[in-house]
Amino acid sequence: MPDCLFCRIAAKEIPAQIVAETAECLAFRDISPQAPTHVLIIPKAHYGSLSDVNDALVAGRISLLAAEVARTLGVAESGYRVVINTGPDGGQTVHHLHAHLLAGRALHWPPG
Ligand code: 5GP
Ligand code: ZN
Repeated sequence: MPDCLFCRIAAKEIPAQIVAETAECLAFRDISPQAPTHVLIIPKAHYGSLSDVNDALVAGRISLLAAEVARTLGVAESGYRVVINTGPDGGQTVHHLHAHLLAGRALHWPPG
């Protein structure tokens, strides 16, 4: 989608600090990190949110890449959280499916 920020990052039209890339997905640092490690994992194809996904492979690839990035960045043992904000009450602000990988500090529960 031409006006979608994360489609443009996936197309390398907008720069991002990429930490991992596969044929289908991209992982890059969040511009406004909420934890010492804060990475976004997106499918390169456009899905508005998790609610628009009907392909288990898409959801699976995102989860597997999040776990792989956690290992690569050395936070797998200390622990991490993977979050997919969805819709208004979920706090979603960018309408291209993305998972947040948060790590590097103790994360509170329940979330605010
Ligand atoms: P959401 O609130 O939709 O779950 O998360 C969107 C995330 O995208 C936010 O954490 C925000 O900081 C991040 N973000 C917004 N614009 C940019 C950008 O241009 N580059 C990067 N790397 N992250 C962005
Ligand atoms: Zn998009």
